[in-house]
Amino acid sequence: MFPIRPYRSIGTLGPASGAVAAALKARAAAWELELVETPDSLTLLVWGCAMTLFTDGHGARLELDAPEKRLIGTLQDTAATLLDELGVTVDWDRVDAGALAPGLALMRVVSVASRTPGFIRVRLAGEEAGRFGTGALHFRLLLPPEGRAPQWPRVAPNGRTVWPEGADAPHRAVYTTAAQQDDWLEFDIFRHAGSPTCDWADRARPGDPVGIIGPGGGGIPNAARLWLFGDETALPAIARILTEAPGRVSASLCCRPEDMGALAQDPRVTRCDDLLAALDAADLAGAPDRHIWFAGPAEAARAARQRLLARACDKREFIAAAYWG
Ligand SMILES: Cc1cc2nc3c(=O)[nH]c(=O)nc-3n(C[C@H](O)[C@H](O)[C@H](O)COP(=O)(O)OP(=O)(O)OC[C@H]3O[C@@H](n4cnc5c(N)ncnc54)[C@H](O)[C@@H]3O)c2cc1C
Repeated sequence: MFPIRPYRSIGTLGPASGAVAAALKARAAAWELELVETPDSLTLLVWGCAMTLFTDGHGARLELDAPEKRLIGTLQDTAATLLDELGVTVDWDRVDAGALAPGLALMRVVSVASRTPGFIRVRLAGEEAGRFGTGALHFRLLLPPEGRAPQWPRVAPNGRTVWPEGADAPHRAVYTTAAQQDDWLEFDIFRHAGSPTCDWADRARPGDPVGIIGPGGGGIPNAARLWLFGDETALPAIARILTEAPGRVSASLCCRPEDMGALAQDPRVTRCDDLLAALDAADLAGAPDRHIWFAGPAEAARAARQRLLARACDKREFIAAAYWG
């Protein structure tokens, strides 16, 4: 069955569009995206959306199809940025010029509290909070610089998102929705040295404005047998996956015992001090519908990917994500 994508936008490409097909193919390879090619079209499948380049004698054009309106904006931004790099102009049938960046929700701080010695829990409120409790698990937190009136990213006439720069540039780090209800959501920040987000949380007051963009960056893996490996930054995602995953799950968590919270009582969770050693020790054999999910420092994620490939895991059977570093 084909996924339903009720939102569409069409962009007419200017001269010199010959290089666009090659650029889309390169992007698909870099992001490991599915690509469907016919004699006169090339479709890139990303975030549940389709971006199709037609070169069929009616002039080159891009058709964007998405399940949500905000994703049309995100695709326009992605495509316009790619085309800009090639010196190709695009004329969209419609652009929300001047609007807030696609997927951006403006929120207010409700509370900031210590959850465990190593984690800060933040609750934000805003009309769009409900969007962040379903589907993808993560969002980008936009923090206005201290002492400056917030400036938010907005849509330019060519569909690109223009970000405030210089003294107005927001800090933007990625977090995981830990809990969500009605018009609020909560997330957990791992305390580490040199963190602008922790510094912000330490001085945040109820009512302070922040932006969140998303949701994005992966959902609950759907496999009969699932292994999770993650450090503190992945703890909120692991907690969500343990609650919502349909299959049989085991998790290895690299964090201090005092930061495990409720996960310390979950028999599916084992604390460890070395994620790669835990991965090496895991018996991943004998499960036909399996998935391995690994998230932590960039270097460990790269090593995990190599080790899983060396253990004959297919690329589609695992994800090894750099959460920081
Ligand atoms: C999909 C996704 C989901 C994530 N979810 C969460 C979450 O729910 N909770 C959470 O706490 N983090 C989460 N992270 C990780 C978080 O985005 C990064 O740790 C981010 O760098 C935090 O921003 P910052 O403002 O603290 O530091 P930055 O300004 O990004 O970095 C400042 C310095 O701190 C270093 N640094 C960053 N993280 C760590 C760390 N964990 N330990 C030691 N040094 C570090 C950086 O390398 C840099 O040198 C997630 C990341 C991804 C990609």
